[in-house]
Amino acid sequence: MYIKGIVEIVLEKLLIFSAPSGSGKTTVVKHLMEVMPEKLGFSVSATTRKPRPGEVHGREYYFLSEEEFRKNIGEGAFLEHEEVYSGILYGTLWSEVKRIWSEDRLVVFDVDVLGGLNLKKEFGEKALAIFLRPPSVEILMERLTKRSTEVEHELAQRIDKAQYELSFENQYDVVVVNDKLEETFERCETLVGNFYSK
Ligand code: ADP
Ligand code: 5GP
Repeated sequence: MYIKGIVEIVLEKLLIFSAPSGSGKTTVVKHLMEVMPEKLGFSVSATTRKPRPGEVHGREYYFLSEEEFRKNIGEGAFLEHEEVYSGILYGTLWSEVKRIWSEDRLVVFDVDVLGGLNLKKEFGEKALAIFLRPPSVEILMERLTKRSTEVEHELAQRIDKAQYELSFENQYDVVVVNDKLEETFERCETLVGNFYSK
């Protein structure tokens, strides 16, 4: 945190949550947003994937057609973007970061492992990069299967990618093993609280 002018406090920090799909990022980020709403702002990404039941445009994601997404790339709207799964694009919007910073909140990202590393490279010490690891690949598969949000070939794609993504954990600032959910919540609340007041 630094002081700009005399009275205006500007908090330009970022919190990156990354992990293979099914590790618990959405669950943890949602919890943090509930317990510290005044401190955090969730960066709503854009994606070309279809909404899941219950997902709302502008809340979980901005759901765009591929044409709209590519137009945004051309206009320089993205801070980073990735084809996370074959043919499915995801991207972090500059407008989200600016909006949340203007509210003096810490920006929270739920992004894939490569996107997370790109954001960390871009922001360095201003960002805390947390890698959420499942206790094992078997448990990850079990959680993904139970979530039942993907058809079989999509599920296989996510599980295949998970092995590769797990090899990047050493490049993150902190690794949190998401075994017992209550313990994960507590650990993440402490990490975020410390980073916020640093
Ligand atoms: P991600 O956002 O990383 O893809 P989710 O938050 O959607 O992962 O979690 C995947 C599934 O696992 C969800 O159904 C969620 O309820 C469940 N889950 C998350 N963390 C735990 C945990 N510690 N123990 C058991 N189930 C969990
Ligand atoms: P899901 O389809 O399960 O919501 O997300 C799939 C993956 O895309 C997750 O790992 C999620 O973190 C990642 N993701 C979501 N938004 C972004 C983004 O803006 N950029 C990148 N690089 N990945 C994202």
